[in-house]
Amino acid sequence: MADRYDVLIIGAGVVGCAVARELSRYRLRICVLEKELDVACGNSSRNSGVLHGGFTYRKGSLKALCCVEGNREFDAVAEELGVPFRRSGKLVVGFTDQDRASLESFKAVGEGNGAVGLEMVDRKRLNELDSSAGGEFAMYSPSSGILDPMAYTIALAENAGQNGADFFFDREVTGIIRRDGMHEVTATGDTFTTRWVVNAAGLNSARISAMLGIGGYVIRGFKGEYIILDKKAGAFLNMPVYPAPNPKGGFATHATPTVHGNVLIGPDSYITEDFDDFSVTRKQMDGLVADGLKMFAQVKREYFIRSFAGIRPKLVDPATGEILDFVCEARREAPNTINLVGIESPGLTSALPLARRAVALMAERERLVPNPAFEPRRKAPLRFSEQDLAGKKKLIEQDPDYGEIVCRCECVTKAEILKAIRNPLGVCTVAAIKNRTRATMGRCQGGYCETRIAKLIQDETGRRVTEVLFNLKGSAMFTGRVRE
Ligand SMILES: Cc1cc2nc3c(=O)[nH]c(=O)nc-3n(C[C@H](O)[C@H](O)[C@H](O)COP(=O)(O)OP(=O)(O)OC[C@H]3O[C@@H](n4cnc5c(N)ncnc54)[C@H](O)[C@@H]3O)c2cc1C
Repeated sequence: MADRYDVLIIGAGVVGCAVARELSRYRLRICVLEKELDVACGNSSRNSGVLHGGFTYRKGSLKALCCVEGNREFDAVAEELGVPFRRSGKLVVGFTDQDRASLESFKAVGEGNGAVGLEMVDRKRLNELDSSAGGEFAMYSPSSGILDPMAYTIALAENAGQNGADFFFDREVTGIIRRDGMHEVTATGDTFTTRWVVNAAGLNSARISAMLGIGGYVIRGFKGEYIILDKKAGAFLNMPVYPAPNPKGGFATHATPTVHGNVLIGPDSYITEDFDDFSVTRKQMDGLVADGLKMFAQVKREYFIRSFAGIRPKLVDPATGEILDFVCEARREAPNTINLVGIESPGLTSALPLARRAVALMAERERLVPNPAFEPRRKAPLRFSEQDLAGKKKLIEQDPDYGEIVCRCECVTKAEILKAIRNPLGVCTVAAIKNRTRATMGRCQGGYCETRIAKLIQDETGRRVTEVLFNLKGSAMFTGRVRE
């Protein structure tokens, strides 16, 4: 039997970590259970990384309210938590009269939702904003931005941890029993006892909801694939370029610069039954190239460095198939539970506003006592590549490990890798190091540094080479030593 908690959160995506961080403002014993080996292993690392403006969601919906709120506050949030972010603006481009009508109607919706500065622009102005964007005209959203979604989720988790929350990885929740006013949560061999349970399980949120005694939710997976382009292509693109949305508000393939200078082409959208299948396919990749070229002329094969996929967990009405709003609820039939279901896009933008609503639901039911030691600030890891020459020299004088480059493409040093291996959440896969340092994310995609990182993990943690994992359970990178 593991420890007793006041609140147990299921899922360490951006939403679960945001809830943990917001709850850590109060005197509560909090834990987060995650079935994978790190935070952000689900959709929180499989998205466009766009801070949305809030112009495609129905007025008054939770999606609209949380998106606009999350957008407005993000400069301060990024500063407080040390998250790479740029308020880049965004262009939603059109080619036809129908596109123009669609953009004008979404502009009106956005203005109703409180999205600021929306403006229709002609091709001349489009050229000034981003000459590489496709389209004859566009709606410009100056408040949209781009952020590093992995860094954001890690920052929320580390800040929650620094304020007292416990994180347990490799703990898949398989059963929840309510007994004597407490919940007993079974997770990979352990039982946790807790007063409150928060469901932030993303694609599995309907299943966890049923375990809590709230049935009837249906999540449909809308998969989307992406191509990542090299930073050479990134030099051409200032801001995300999206096509005019379809009448239901869905966007087809767009071109999005990342905050680190790459470009994402995607996602497309098709239904999948398999919520664990994040593979990409040749057929979809070909479609991404064709559609991506309409948004951004530099979609050239010489720039392709990687591909990935995400699966949007859309809550649907089982009778009509209609896509429904986010659910954030505390239901009487499931006492002391907060249920977050169907958190698809704009879930990244909305994570903190959703978390505050979750905490407010709890505060309506019991008095939450502020944690006087709560520290909202979290220090971002130092990036050697971002220092000027004098700063680099000083760092190397202080610690010679800064003088040893491990990832040549992204200029990541041994000192940064070692600090990442010693991260406060205690996670240690190669992908965990990648998401904390950007090592392996460059042009060669780890061809040079991956084995060096694996060796540093071995040396630092005393693991055998066969125990070094890439990202998920069972993702061993080596079967043994050639020369034993
Ligand atoms: C293709 C795509 C593009 C997107 N683009 C954007 C965008 O640009 N901007 C934006 O604002 N939003 C975007 N989104 C939406 C955003 O990514 C999600 O809304 C957000 O990441 C949801 O976070 P989450 O924490 O709810 O889910 P997740 O990140 O999926 O986290 C849920 C976690 O729960 C864990 N879990 C599941 N079951 C269990 C269990 N039984 N026991 C323990 N743990 C469990 C999972 O392993 C996972 O880590 C996009 C989504 C997709 C798929």
